[in-house]
Amino acid sequence: MAIRNVRELGDEVLRKKSREVTEMTPRIRELIDDMFETMYERDGVGLAAPQVGILKRIVVIDTEGEPLLLINPRILETRDSQTGSEGCLSVPGKAGTVTRPNYVRAEAYDENLERFEIEGTELLARAICHELDHLEGIMYVDKVEGELYDVTNDEDEDEEDV
Ligand code: ZN
Repeated sequence: MAIRNVRELGDEVLRKKSREVTEMTPRIRELIDDMFETMYERDGVGLAAPQVGILKRIVVIDTEGEPLLLINPRILETRDSQTGSEGCLSVPGKAGTVTRPNYVRAEAYDENLERFEIEGTELLARAICHELDHLEGIMYVDKVEGELYDVTNDEDEDEEDV
């Protein structure tokens, strides 16, 4: 496993649309392992493959102490809304206010390319929406209400990088 370089806002790979995964290969398994390692090392709660320069529809999330892998994810249903602070590992040191659904139901495929559904509320719903946006080349800064603001790396910061 290896830590991968996280691409930052301004890198054009972040603005491209990712392609579906159609077969599991050793290279993709290694990518997934590296994405988890990179996300944990950077203290993020989510990471999408384009953030490490790979245009594949793969997302890793961990908002609740449990690693979650979403391959070819698709949102099936959203409900309600939440407005809160959001950050991104590709926009270091910044955060902004974004409104997202407060409930999301999505389908995705696991490491064996078997379909499953996942439901999430609050931070998990926010993370799923944020990461799926990355697969379309959309960044949270496109959706921010007001200005981005600076954040420190204090442990008491209340926004999470996804
Ligand atoms: Zn992000």
